[in-house]
Amino acid sequence: MGSNAASAGPLHMLFFPLMSPGHMIPMVDMARLFATRGVRSTIVTTPLNATNLRRTVDSSAAHGLPLSLHVIPFPDPAATGLAPGQENLSTVPTAHFNTFVMALFHFQSPLAALLRELRPDVLVSDSLFTWTADLALEHGIPRLIFHGAGAFPLFVLTNLVNYLPLDPSTESFTMNGLPHPIRLHKNGLPELVDNFFMLKLLGEAEAKSYGVVVNTFHDMEPSYVNYYKNKNQTGIKAWCVGPVSLFCRAAEERAGRGESPADRERVLGWLNSKPAGSVVYMCFGSLCHFSGAQLREIALGLEASGKAFLWVVRREAAEDAAAEAEWMPEGFEKRVEGRGLVVRGWAPQVEVLGHAAVGWFVTHCGWNSLQESVCAGVPMITWPLFHEQFINEALVVDVMGVGVRMWEGFRRNRLEEAKVLVTAEEVAAVVGRVVGGGGEEEVETVARKAKEYGEAARKAVEEEGSTYEDVTSLIKELDAKRKEGQEDV
Ligand code: UDP
Repeated sequence: MGSNAASAGPLHMLFFPLMSPGHMIPMVDMARLFATRGVRSTIVTTPLNATNLRRTVDSSAAHGLPLSLHVIPFPDPAATGLAPGQENLSTVPTAHFNTFVMALFHFQSPLAALLRELRPDVLVSDSLFTWTADLALEHGIPRLIFHGAGAFPLFVLTNLVNYLPLDPSTESFTMNGLPHPIRLHKNGLPELVDNFFMLKLLGEAEAKSYGVVVNTFHDMEPSYVNYYKNKNQTGIKAWCVGPVSLFCRAAEERAGRGESPADRERVLGWLNSKPAGSVVYMCFGSLCHFSGAQLREIALGLEASGKAFLWVVRREAAEDAAAEAEWMPEGFEKRVEGRGLVVRGWAPQVEVLGHAAVGWFVTHCGWNSLQESVCAGVPMITWPLFHEQFINEALVVDVMGVGVRMWEGFRRNRLEEAKVLVTAEEVAAVVGRVVGGGGEEEVETVARKAKEYGEAARKAVEEEGSTYEDVTSLIKELDAKRKEGQEDV
C-alpha cells in the first residue's frame, strides 16, 4: 500500500463525478460547498463536460474559493464503442447505457496518474467508478462514495437483497419492518438489480471505501437517515451534506446546468407575468425518452387542464420541425399562447422551482429534482420512469406526503418505451384538480407539508443546522486522518 504523507495546507479533496447531469451537478455543487468551508476542492472531468462547469468554477475562484477544475481526456471511441463527443450519459441513447458504463473502466490509468501528480488527501468518486476503491487504497487515502441517491432509496436498496430473487409470479410486494410499509412493483425496481456483475463490484467497492456522502438532510427523511447512518445496519459510514443546491445563492455559482442565457430570460420573464402558485412546471430530468404518442397525450392533457404550464421537452424530441411534427398537436402552441410555455431543451430548474408563480411540479422523481422541489417548498405530481424513481415516489407520496401520483399502479416497463400511455384525460384530471389549489383538504395538506419541508431544508444548511454539523464533523475526521498519516484506510 502506498502512503499519502500528511500534506501541508488545507485538506485537499478530489471529486470525480459520473458524467451525467444528475450526478455531475450535485457533485460539483458539493465540491463548491467543501471549498466554502476552506477545503481545497478539485473537480476532475473530461473536455466537453468541463465546458459546462467553467463558469461555476471560474466564478467561485474569482470569489476566492479554493475550487479548481482538472481536465482528463475521454477514452478513445475506438476503445469504448461510443461515438465521438458522447462524453455525457445525457447524449447517449438509452440502449447504449451499458456501453457508457463499461467505458468508465478506461479512466483507471489517467486517474491513477492524476493521484500521483496531485496527491489529494481524499477521493470522492461516483459509485459507478467501483475501481476507485482499490486505487484510493493503493494511494493510502480514504475514498468517499457518491451514489446520487438519498438515504431512503439507498436504505431500501440495501434492504432489497433480502427479497431477491423475486418469485417470477410476483408483480408487487411490500417491504415490511421499516417505519412505513413500502410497496414496490417488480418492474419498477432499478435496472441495476438484474446486473449481478455490477452489483458484485458495487458491494466489494463499498466494503473497501471509507464512507458515503449523501445529498440529503436529516429532517427530510429522518428515520431512513438514521437507519442508513447506523453502521450496524448498512455496514458503512455516511454523512448528509445536502441539499447541495442550497449552498449556491447566485445562478452562476451553481454547477453548469446547460440552459442558454436567452432561454433563462424567456422562462423567468414569462413566470414573472403569472400569479403566485398558478403554474405547473413539468420536467423529466436529463435522461428520459418519451414516445411521440406519450408526448402528444401530455400536450393535449396540459391544454385540457385549463391551467398555466411550463413544459420542458428534451432536445432530441424537439430537435427539428420534422421530429416535432410527429407528436406536437397541430396549432397547440397557438391555442395555449399566454397560458402555456414549451421549453425545448433545458430550463433553469432551480430558479423555476424557486419562482413564486410555480405552484406544482410534475416530476419523474429523479433525486435532484425531488430535492430541488423540497428545497423550494413546491409540492409534486409524481411520474416515475426508471432507475430508483419508483422508490423515490414512495418517499414523496407515502412517507413525506408532499406529492400526489399522476397515476396509480405501474405504467412503464423499465427502460422500454411506454407500454401503457398515460392519457391526456388523466393528465388533465390530476393537473386540473391540484394546481392553483382546488380547496380539497388532501391537496391543501400536501401543499402545506411541502412548505414545511422547504423551511426545514433551509435550516439544515444554516450554521448549527444538521447538514452544517455533518459537514463540519466529516472535515474534522478527514483532517485528523490526514494528520495521523494513517495508512490503513
Ligand atoms: N435539470 C435542469 N433543467 C432541465 C432538466 C434538468 O436544470 O431542463 C437539472 C435538474 O435541476 C437536476 C438535474 O438536471 O439538478 C437532473 O437530475 P435528476 O436527478 O432530477 O434526474 P436525472 O436527469 O438524473 O434523471
